[in-house]
Amino acid sequence: MTEHTKTDGLPEAMPDGLSRAQVLERSAPRNERMATDKIECNACPVLCQISPGRVGACDRYANAAGVLVRVDPVLLLRRTLESGSAALVPFAARTPGDAELAPADADADADADALALQDDIFVTGVGSGTTYPDYKPAPFIVASRADGVDMVTVVTEGIFSYCSLKVKIDTDRWLGPEQANVRCAGEVVGHVTTAEYGSQMLSLGGVHHLTGGSKKEGRITCDMMLRLGNKQAVELSIDGGSQVVVQAGRAPIVNGVEEQRMRVGCGSATVGIFAKQFFGLADEVVVVDDHITGVLTQHQAGRCLAMRPSGIKIRGRKSTPGRYFQVANPGTGWGGTDLSDPLAIIEGWDAAVAWPGLRLLMVSTTGEHSACYELDATLTPQPVVMPAETRAVVERIGENCEPSLSTVLFLAGAGGSLRAGVTDNPVRLTRAIKQALVNVTLGGAPAYVWPGGGITVMADVMRMPDNSFGTVPTPAIVAPMEFSMRVADYRALGGHMGHVCTLADVLARGAWHSDGAPTARRFEAIAPANAWPLGQPPLLG
Ligand code: SF4
Repeated sequence: MTEHTKTDGLPEAMPDGLSRAQVLERSAPRNERMATDKIECNACPVLCQISPGRVGACDRYANAAGVLVRVDPVLLLRRTLESGSAALVPFAARTPGDAELAPADADADADADALALQDDIFVTGVGSGTTYPDYKPAPFIVASRADGVDMVTVVTEGIFSYCSLKVKIDTDRWLGPEQANVRCAGEVVGHVTTAEYGSQMLSLGGVHHLTGGSKKEGRITCDMMLRLGNKQAVELSIDGGSQVVVQAGRAPIVNGVEEQRMRVGCGSATVGIFAKQFFGLADEVVVVDDHITGVLTQHQAGRCLAMRPSGIKIRGRKSTPGRYFQVANPGTGWGGTDLSDPLAIIEGWDAAVAWPGLRLLMVSTTGEHSACYELDATLTPQPVVMPAETRAVVERIGENCEPSLSTVLFLAGAGGSLRAGVTDNPVRLTRAIKQALVNVTLGGAPAYVWPGGGITVMADVMRMPDNSFGTVPTPAIVAPMEFSMRVADYRALGGHMGHVCTLADVLARGAWHSDGAPTARRFEAIAPANAWPLGQPPLLG
């Protein structure tokens, strides 16, 4: 492969009487010796001056005997059977510690394996390093072959001021009003956004909280995003609502109670799904739901089963037959309402229609709450023991509820270094992504590319490698990103062809701006849920 030289995009004649070599030297990563034995890191705008043996403000770069090094090893993924490899080949185990100041010694066995299988190795942005200012080529621009086609992957860690987390919390319990502030350690870090089917949604982080408030708000927002992105637990409080502990891939904890079940559906859907199974076991079934409460005999499902009207009158606003809105206030009781007594939503019974002995089942959308009643002579519901057959249907509602999870999606826009690190003419990269010529991944995880302008991507942090995220104190989030495409397309979009290197180059001398110091690396199998990033169609909007 070509040497790391030449195509820096600079004209031969430079302004201010400087030679081209002088300008290049000035813009290179500095490793610059200060008056003392400190060196200056210029991987981000903070420009830390780092003493020997110490790390910079972000804990990501260090001064190792006068050489600026990226502390964490770069992560290389290997293809597995699940992700489409012809064979699953074990690597020699090697995982250097995170805090090594010097680049780790090469593990000859692992490197030999990697080189023997280089088409099954993918260099990720995790630990790859950042470049600043933006025009510098990305740390790694790696050549490979996929299905006989010459490919290239541009690998970097982006610094994101424009980024947020979209958090889906599977619970019926009311977390707080939409638009309410979400706080972490007392600072506003986001808001409650539109609820979805069986889930409450939070929008956290973002440029306004990172940069638009106080220093403390920005710092706490950044730390909260870092921890959630790295799959750690974060406690949040919602103004006028609940306390919730969120952790990607784990059940949410609402007001100290771990959520168990995501509801099978709204009250109307639950009536519709289980109507035939309720039939014959109860004369009336009410599925209590904060959003849409279902009443079986009035619902189309009950009518199709020719069920006898019960004469029940439900509080709230009737939407369509057997479907009621606003039967109670939202809360953490039955079906996401504030009810502990479900009978509170019954306004009364039509004496001309209802009858003594009528069997009533009330149940929540998860089956967690349920009770049976019979109308007495005054048409007042009296509690009765639930028959076994009815209990079985209630348990089936619970069986159809999936485990509650918190899901954390990272959403970010590719900024200056990410785009100019790929090409001198970044709009061509944007166009190539929109034309499905470029696959965008985050730590090897597939990214959904939003339609419209820019390169706005979204990825599930659970599909990204552990500890993919970092921060810099500007404050901003650091996250890996890779752009994979055919070499021919890379050349056509004006890529930094002079910086294309082989996997052997990556292993032998690290990132182009590391002064030839080998970069510590570690190998992992790609997550089984992820397709191999090379040669797969991108997830386009
Ligand atoms: S914060 Fe980190 S990346 Fe930025 S200059 Fe300091 S050490 Fe370098």
